[in-house]
Amino acid sequence: MLKDKVAIVTGSTSGIGLGIARELARLRVNLVLNGFGDSGEIEAIRSGIEREHGVRVVYDGADMSKGDAVRRLIAATIETFGCLDILVNNAGIQFTAPVEEFPSAKWHAILDINLSAAFHGIAAAVPQMKKQRWGRIVNIASTHGLVASTHKAAYVAAKHGLIGLTKVVGLETAGSGVTCNAVCPGWVRTPLVEKQISDIAAQRNISQKDAAKALLGEKQPSSEFVSPEQLGGTVAFLCSPAADQITGTAIAVDGGWTAQ
Ligand code: NAD
Repeated sequence: MLKDKVAIVTGSTSGIGLGIARELARLRVNLVLNGFGDSGEIEAIRSGIEREHGVRVVYDGADMSKGDAVRRLIAATIETFGCLDILVNNAGIQFTAPVEEFPSAKWHAILDINLSAAFHGIAAAVPQMKKQRWGRIVNIASTHGLVASTHKAAYVAAKHGLIGLTKVVGLETAGSGVTCNAVCPGWVRTPLVEKQISDIAAQRNISQKDAAKALLGEKQPSSEFVSPEQLGGTVAFLCSPAADQITGTAIAVDGGWTAQ
């Protein structure tokens, strides 16, 4: 169904983005991987996916905090593959502090990477997708795009903004063959959350295992982490014909967090 399509997954050298990239490759989608990390490890991921799934995978290290670099990533992909079918805006960072202590530099970095990068990527991708009369834009937001938690002023603001952007683009592309949706994961055990688990363990003088349990217990009724593979499945669903009429919406994958 998605065979030979071309997808960019930003922030796909780790965590959720890598899970989404692997699932799309399993469905025979050609990929542009993006994100930071050790160049040897990134090459092992790239060539491993290519070998395992028989798809073409290229790596582009564009810095998502720079609007121009994001737009160049889209243009380079279209030049390399001759098309762009799926854009997954996933790269993101976190920083926690009470609002009165929140460093301005962190505020700007989170807004740039978690929100503005999606704006630049979408703006550059939509003309091509409209021309093709088919495109899927999936923005990886968060439960924090729907509800708030303390000490996450920039992250919650960026993710709420990302859901707003999703609605606007869903409206502007309606009927063109292009859809734009957001996915809102609850807790997923990736490096981004591992740091928060370590902080709880240190603050409460408890083990990593108990800290992970405490983190889940506070918010996620299922008491289980969401997996990157499950989020890959959600993105694949949004790229399937069953989702042709789903646009401008936000799908929670959060073990019941936002049902409370
Ligand atoms: P992660 O830290 O494992 O991965 C983040 C990825 O983004 C990495 O590949 C990293 O290299 C890349 N990245 C960071 N800054 C970048 C930049 N300036 N330019 C290019 N790439 C950059 O984190 P994750 O948990 O997989 O998070 C992925 C997305 O999912 C984020 O948008 C995050 O907000 C969101 N999310 C995560 C959770 C969770 O519980 N882990 C929950 C909800 C939403």
